[in-house]
Parts: sequence; structure tokens; C-alpha cells
Amino acid sequence: MKQSIQYGKSIIDFDLEYADRKTLGIKVFPDKKVEVIAPFDATEEKIMEKVKQKAAWIQKQQEFFLSFHPLTPPRNYVSGETYLYLGRQYRLKLVESNEACVKMVRGFIFIHCNDKTDKSKIKAQLDNWYKEKAEIHFPQLFSKWLPITKSFYPSEVDLKYRWMKKRWGSCDDKGQITLNIELIKSPKKCIEYVIVHEFCHLAFLNHSKAFYDLLEKHFPTWRETKNYLEHFMV
Ligand SMILES: [Zn+2]
Repeated sequence: MKQSIQYGKSIIDFDLEYADRKTLGIKVFPDKKVEVIAPFDATEEKIMEKVKQKAAWIQKQQEFFLSFHPLTPPRNYVSGETYLYLGRQYRLKLVESNEACVKMVRGFIFIHCNDKTDKSKIKAQLDNWYKEKAEIHFPQLFSKWLPITKSFYPSEVDLKYRWMKKRWGSCDDKGQITLNIELIKSPKKCIEYVIVHEFCHLAFLNHSKAFYDLLEKHFPTWRETKNYLEHFMV
């Protein structure tokens, strides 16, 4: 059951379920979805009150996940559609050709393919092109910011990238940073923000005040960059 509460200026939506339990349980998922599981005998009024009490905590949990919302409408992979690359819009142009390749020329992304109606093949070509671009830009930006880690993480830091559904990046306790290839569609500033964000996780594997202090120190404009990434990347 879909429900929502007003908390300050924001609305928190949640899925409400009932189960054989004594207390109210709240779960927050990486895609920011909230699930509330209530005891069978809980009244709606009581549930709303409880969720409201936990609102600050819920928002903090949602904030915890470096969120990634694919706002992009479904793509048809036809000429004329626009696609993002490093924060700029490019128009897609399909060209019938026996030699498959992707080229970027003045505001256009040209895809040469032997069948202009084969959407999955065109998607694969474009995704592969994005991946190649990520392979060029991610290591450069990674190296640019790597020196900041020396003061709080003396060991080696490793960079990987792959397509991820729910996150812009991740970091583990072994110094492994993974970036979402999808990031290549956003401005370089955003890619740098995610890299610095993940670097700060090498010092703190959480979103504590200490984590944000460190982020603020190295990337003072993180708020607006994060905001851009979360709201304007379409
Ligand atoms: Zn994080």
C-alpha cells in the first residue's frame, strides 16, 4: 500500500505492509524507496505518527546512498534523439554502412551500422562507445585527485568501472573504487565529485560528520555538484 507523510518541505513516500510482528519496522533502500512494516493491529494514525518520528532518520538513510536515479526516458535509438556526453547534448544520427563505428562530430553522434532498425545492436554500439570514453576520462580524473588520499589512506587505491543500476560509485575497505560508466554522460565536475566522494570513503566507510568534513575540505562545492547530478542528469 502506497503511503506518504509530509516532513518539513519534503514528502516521504513509502510502501506500507503488515506483518505478524510487535513493532514497526522501517527499511530504506539504495534507490531511496522506503518500506514500512507494521504490526497487524497498528492503526493508520499510529503508523503515520511513528514514521513522522523517524523522518529525519529516513532522510539520513536516503542521503547515505550516493543516489542514482535514471531519469532518462526510454530510448528508441533513432536519428534525432539526444544523448548526453560529458554534460552536453548530442543528436544521434544513424548512418547505414557495412563498417560499424561511432563518431562524434560537431554536436552529433554518428552511428554507422548495417541495420538502422536493430535497436539492441545500436544500443550496444553506443554503450561501448561510452565505455571507451570512460576508459579515457575516468583514469585521468582519478589521477588528478589521487594525491588527496595520501594524507588519510597510505595504501594503493584501485580504479574500476562498470555499468551500475543504482549507484554512481562505490568504495570498499580494500581501496577499490568503482565508478558507474553512466557517469561519462555527466559534466567532468560531477565525475570528479563522485571520485572525491569515494576517496573520502577510504577514510570513513560511512556518511558521518567526519566524512562530510573531509569531503568539504577537498571539494567545497560538493553540494551543488551532487544536486546537479541528482536532479539535472536526464
Ligand atoms: Zn557515499
